[in-house]
Amino acid sequence: MISRRRWLQGLGLALGASARPRGAFARLEREANTQQTTSSQPLVLTDYQPKSMLHVQETRVERARFPVVDVHTHISVSAKPEKGVDVTAARTYLGTAEELLPVMDRKNIHTMINLTGGFEEGLTDVIGKYDKRFPGRFYSFVEPSYPRFLQTDYPRIQAQAIETAHLAGAKGLKIVKALGLYLRESITSGKLVKVDDPRFDPMWDACGQLNMPVAIHVSDPLAFFTPTDRFNERYEELNNHPNWSFYGRDFPSNAELLEARNRVFARHPRTQFVVLHVGNFAEDLGNVSDCLDRFPNMSVDIAARIGELGRQPRTARRFFDKYQDRILFGTDATPHGDVTPQQVFNDKLYEIYYRFLETDDEYFDYAPADVPPQGRWRIYGIGLPEAILQKVYNQNAERLLRIKV
Ligand SMILES: [Zn+2]
Repeated sequence: MISRRRWLQGLGLALGASARPRGAFARLEREANTQQTTSSQPLVLTDYQPKSMLHVQETRVERARFPVVDVHTHISVSAKPEKGVDVTAARTYLGTAEELLPVMDRKNIHTMINLTGGFEEGLTDVIGKYDKRFPGRFYSFVEPSYPRFLQTDYPRIQAQAIETAHLAGAKGLKIVKALGLYLRESITSGKLVKVDDPRFDPMWDACGQLNMPVAIHVSDPLAFFTPTDRFNERYEELNNHPNWSFYGRDFPSNAELLEARNRVFARHPRTQFVVLHVGNFAEDLGNVSDCLDRFPNMSVDIAARIGELGRQPRTARRFFDKYQDRILFGTDATPHGDVTPQQVFNDKLYEIYYRFLETDDEYFDYAPADVPPQGRWRIYGIGLPEAILQKVYNQNAERLLRIKV
């Protein structure tokens, strides 16, 4: 049984005739057209899985050319998020170190950075389970203690929490997109808190003083801010995850979010910001380039955006040339994250990233999935030279995180 909603998603493949011929010939042609029309059936979009007939070079890159620091993974997550906000310190673990290490060794991943390390006792637990047991293979980032947001001296408490986390072994601070899109004045209700809210200023400064880079995710793909309709290039993804849409309601626009973020970068020049997902605007590398030119304290990772970079391979290649010292390797890898194939932690995912960065292969899938999960297109490799690969795979991360691979 096809629901009405799915039916509406169907693709009508019949084309309407524009200029109609006259006379007997026209009648014959009309009959032929009618037969053709009746034999063509609408096809439900979710059933459409075209196989490419293109014969092109296919390179399998099993191991990265140089040891990798994956600066963007999620090994632990909040045990109890509420309306998009991390409200308890407790963590849920998505994969054990013993489970992750064999994949890391096969794929030449020297180090994984677990960005969502949480805070307070949750963070201590994470560092004990991974960082301390396998030194150099895992590092964790701290996250803001949002449950304390309503305490009167939150700004000071939060700056202090960064220092405590630093002493416990946290390598940096992670800001999830909750800031700007979910965190509200009464934590889960009230007005949205702005990204450049001054209550966070002591936190940004503390990170600068302690040489802890801030991995920051602000806003989301541009298509998530437009209606989920037939013009949306990520229609299927948004239809599968309706809560990923930030269109309407009281959400700020993508531009407003990025402007507030930029004001934070300008106000805290001694704090290093790694702006995740290609500066959160992989659809507009011109904009990301402008930001990188304006803010020397900004760098980017490429996590979950090879789908964007790889569909504009010539622009992306120039971008890597120009900003080769400020681009970090990241994937957003999540153990057992099968619902989002573009970030599932497995061999296949890493092979796709390596193929994109290292080869000139054309028209291949950006995620291990039957249907491209972030929009129906394929990507092209950018064949980076060794010197740039080495910087992106590990040297830029080594410098920023003060680690040795
Ligand atoms: Zn992430």
